[in-house]
Amino acid sequence: MIQVDLEEERKEILKRYRRLLRMAKPMLKEGDAKFIKKAFNVANEAHKEMRRKSGEPYIYHPLEVALVCVEEIGLGTTSIVAALLHDVVEDTDWELEDIERDFGPKVMQIIDGLTKISGVFDYGSSQQAENFRKMLLTLSDDVRVILIKLADRLNNMRTLESMPRHKQLKIASETMYLYAPLAHRLGLYAIKSELEDLYLKYTDSDTYAYIVEKINETRISRNKFIKTFIAPIEEELHVQGFEFVVKGRPKSVFSIYNKMKKQNIPFEEVYDLFAVRIIIDSELDDEKADCWQVYSIVTDFYRPNPDRLRDWISTPRANGYESLHTTVMSNTGQWVEVQIRTTRMDDIAERGYAAHWKYKEIEAAQGKSSSGLDKWIMQVRSLLESNDGSAIEFMDDFRGNLFHDEVFVFTPKGELKVLPFGATALDFAFEIHTEVGAKCIGAKVNQKLVPINHKLKNGDQVEILTSNKQKPTEDWLNSVVTSRAKAKIKDALKEDKKSVMIDGKEIVQRKLRQMKMDFNSEIVEQLRAYFETKTPNEFYYKVGKGVIDATSIKSFKDFKEQKKEVSKPTLGKVKDESSFTKEIKSLKGPDHDQLLIGEDMDVVDYILAKCCNPIPGDDVFGFVTINEGIKIHRTSCPNALELLSNHGNRVIKARWTSQQEIAFLAGLRIIGTDRVGLINDVTKVISNELKVNMRSITVDSDSGIFEGTIKLYVHSTQHLEKLVENLSKVEGIIKVTRFD
Ligand code: MN
Repeated sequence: MIQVDLEEERKEILKRYRRLLRMAKPMLKEGDAKFIKKAFNVANEAHKEMRRKSGEPYIYHPLEVALVCVEEIGLGTTSIVAALLHDVVEDTDWELEDIERDFGPKVMQIIDGLTKISGVFDYGSSQQAENFRKMLLTLSDDVRVILIKLADRLNNMRTLESMPRHKQLKIASETMYLYAPLAHRLGLYAIKSELEDLYLKYTDSDTYAYIVEKINETRISRNKFIKTFIAPIEEELHVQGFEFVVKGRPKSVFSIYNKMKKQNIPFEEVYDLFAVRIIIDSELDDEKADCWQVYSIVTDFYRPNPDRLRDWISTPRANGYESLHTTVMSNTGQWVEVQIRTTRMDDIAERGYAAHWKYKEIEAAQGKSSSGLDKWIMQVRSLLESNDGSAIEFMDDFRGNLFHDEVFVFTPKGELKVLPFGATALDFAFEIHTEVGAKCIGAKVNQKLVPINHKLKNGDQVEILTSNKQKPTEDWLNSVVTSRAKAKIKDALKEDKKSVMIDGKEIVQRKLRQMKMDFNSEIVEQLRAYFETKTPNEFYYKVGKGVIDATSIKSFKDFKEQKKEVSKPTLGKVKDESSFTKEIKSLKGPDHDQLLIGEDMDVVDYILAKCCNPIPGDDVFGFVTINEGIKIHRTSCPNALELLSNHGNRVIKARWTSQQEIAFLAGLRIIGTDRVGLINDVTKVISNELKVNMRSITVDSDSGIFEGTIKLYVHSTQHLEKLVENLSKVEGIIKVTRFD
């Protein structure tokens, strides 16, 4: 039992509440403070018996969420009140009507939206996709719902420490899957970066800690470098009368991690570890000229890389981001990214949508057109209205669209169209009009004839060629990237598809009847999984199209019957043993006392997933599959994100027993004379006799001599020696040596 000093706690709650008020003060109008106080009192009273997992009073959470809304997103009184009350309806006796009575319809609607989307990830995947669609609908109703939801998620991620491990993984994965991209799309860079960093912290804590330490280690030399680098620029800026601040910040932990991973390089070789940002005060009318003047000063001192100039002032990114980026060569031979922007642009870049709102009236007065963000939200709305396909499909498409950068292209009349990066002539055609898209046979890009799947580049001028005989086909889906084009093509294909699906379903029913099996949802689900299709309809469709041969449905029956006998997973079969030229990655059957699974940490049957080959010591989780029992994946598995976020209810925790954690990687080189079945004997020695986990095996055979390298996990050198001894005994083996 922890002893709690309630009096101390009460003081702390008030202290936090006052901090919130202080931060909000500059934007409060008359009566606002009173309104906020009322909300605080209601929330405090309603949550008074509740505590967070960490043991802290529950009210800390809504208070922190409200603070994020004010400080990091720049939202106003209505949002603060809604944030303070956001968990009241869900977790206490308060009803929506009570909220409406005491706080008015606007606050009630926002809380209603928040409560509705709170279960976005809590059910099976189709239910979840439906909820996701609901979430986006609230986005087009009132974007504040999503902004407060992001603040809520940020606070939950910041306090993830006290959650059990499997919940940490689930919450972190959802965050990465949906909330970070959403924050990015809404222009909330700071929040997006923090969410990504926290994701890394909880899924790969070693790497996270390593990078953080490296960043800290290099801080002093970095600061010195920035100081020297910026000195001549600062002097000149003063001479020319600019008011400005310079910031030199390292990139986020996650973005450094991404670079290391993508380019497969160590920390030291990530060359743009930080960016120098010059933020100037400027009148709205002079912004562009001023920024270019600063650019001119910077490049007077340092030579720019012409390939890395980005002008997001003339054409802001679709999420509202405006800035001028250049990468220049420093005197010490390092490339440095310099970002030039005004205070207004910086505010929008950091705080996204809400800050954007703040400047909206001024911008309108200046005759600036409505922002990319407004257009995006309009697009989302029209997509939601037009799309009646499966919610999961929609979610996939939509998520895809969150990630893209943009290309800017022009119509023959010079009208600007913004499309996601990678967009094709066909995307452009659908952007113009559904009919133009459906009849598109090709395009002229900058006067040159190109096919429909031609990828567009910045500045292209595109003219679409159409024919009345044209009709969308299945392949078209591979030729487009925009959700809009995909949805329209799918609509066109749907009618056609429906009849194929009905045919397929009839074939399946007939086959099952022939095999004396029932046609019910359980069997259909097993068939779906067996043939690795996403949905039963996709399965029917493939049968109808003949992609899945009707006779192969029989193999499913065989498989089902066979499965009853096979109780233990076995070593993956080595095909074509005599050739010995392939690299074979294989896993040994699990040694059942190595893993503890589930809440009670039971020892139960499991299979190690082939996609990530976990070995003892890896950070892992269990996943309940439909046909193969529990599969163990590494938390760093490429599929983990999808599994954890979409099927959280099927995830169970798993931990290696400590004795196995001391296993270490060793390499063996084997030379011998080739014979049929040799590799089988070798793997048998390794996996069956000594219960060793094999990581990989590579075998090469040349005129009767074979050479193999095996990487495996052993517990001790003694263990390894025993293994070498046993391997040497295998017929045909000449030499077994260890290598690192
Ligand atoms: Mn909450």
